[in-house]
Amino acid sequence: MTLLTRFAPSPTGLLHLGHAYAAERAFSFGPCLLRIEDIDHTRVRAEFEPAMIDDLRWLGFDWPEPTRRQSEHLQDYAAVVSELTDRGLTYEDYRTRSGEDDRSRPPAVKLSTEAAARALAGEALTYTNNGEVVSFRPSTLADPTIARRDIGVSYHIAVTHDDQIQDVTDVVRGEDLLPETPVHVLIQALMGWRVPAYHHHGLVWDGERKMSKRRGSRTIASLREAGLSPADVLAQARTSKASASARDD
Ligand code: GLU
Repeated sequence: MTLLTRFAPSPTGLLHLGHAYAAERAFSFGPCLLRIEDIDHTRVRAEFEPAMIDDLRWLGFDWPEPTRRQSEHLQDYAAVVSELTDRGLTYEDYRTRSGEDDRSRPPAVKLSTEAAARALAGEALTYTNNGEVVSFRPSTLADPTIARRDIGVSYHIAVTHDDQIQDVTDVVRGEDLLPETPVHVLIQALMGWRVPAYHHHGLVWDGERKMSKRRGSRTIASLREAGLSPADVLAQARTSKASASARDD
């Protein structure tokens, strides 16, 4: 299968230096798709998608069209949740964050990792991260939410579904998503989907914490306005990453 990766930002804010670094890692890995992960209508804002695309083009990245927009495929994700439910692998969860039973809204759908482990005959699952084999038992995972109460779908299902149908062979992304990877591998095993090779890279730090749209970390747009060139912005992203690794050592 031909190597193919993807860069999959969510249009919930302007891109910042952390995204510039992540985009460079993904786009320099090999042929790379752009995927807009916009299922969370509670956080997505229409103006961020064109702004994001404009920043990525300005940085010099290029990708094949059409660009996949997840909000146009919600029924496909719901169909995966239905299939897992029909196979007896899920349950409805009406609990609020504070643990109260709230029947006034649709429930979340959770994947029972115990039922999933039985369906897979107790087998350990494996994937590779940065070339190393990682093995885990599905029954040791907490039950993940595969349909959120507020949006009816979930990141876990959308991302694994799309990696499968877009023939993604390699997932290059930040290490903040490494803890989610076993959940993705479990869904892939249950659905009979390929397990891509995973490559998790370190994050760019903003002082003591990782970069975040919500905290208003330096955006690519503001660096552009300040007169930096695309090469300057990418170099600054790499330097911030390098100083973060030095501090972590
Ligand atoms: N959409 C996710 C994000 O913005 C990335 C998902 C992934 O690469 O698996 O962080």
